[in-house]
Amino acid sequence: EEESADEMTIFKKIIDKEIPADIVYEDDQCLAFRDVNPQAPVHVLVIPKREIRSLADVVETDRELLGHLLVVASRIAAKLHLHDGYRTVINCGAHGGQTVHHLHIHLLGGRNLDWPPG
Ligand code: 5GP
Repeated sequence: EEESADEMTIFKKIIDKEIPADIVYEDDQCLAFRDVNPQAPVHVLVIPKREIRSLADVVETDRELLGHLLVVASRIAAKLHLHDGYRTVINCGAHGGQTVHHLHIHLLGGRNLDWPPG
C-alpha cells in the first residue's frame, strides 16, 4: 500500500535502525538490505541514506551518489554470486509502481527474469 506524503518512510526507520532489516551492505552514503517480500531468490534494495523521494527528485549534485548506488549494486550482485545475470529496477511515482517514497534500486536475481514486466 501507499505511504502518505509527509510521514517518515519505513526506509528511514531502517536507516536509523529503528526497525530491523537483513542488511547486506552499508557505508556512510548508502544501505542495502533484503526486500521483505522478495520477487526473486535474491531481491535486495540499495538506498541512499540521505532522503531523496524518488528518481524524479534528483538533481545534478546527486550525480556522484547515484553512481555510487549503482557501483554498490554491481558489487553486491558479484558478492551474492549472480554470475548468470540480474536486473536493477527503479520504480518512480504512481505509474512506476513506487510504494515507498525513498529512492531505492531493486537488485533482482537468482532466476530467469521475465521481460517486459506487466
Ligand atoms: P517499490 O514498489 O516502492 O519500488 O518497492 C518497495 C519495496 O520495499 C517493495 O518491494 C517492498 O516489498 C519493500 N518493503 C516495503 N516495506 C519494507 C520493509 O519494512 N522492509 C523491507 N526489507 N522491505 C520493505
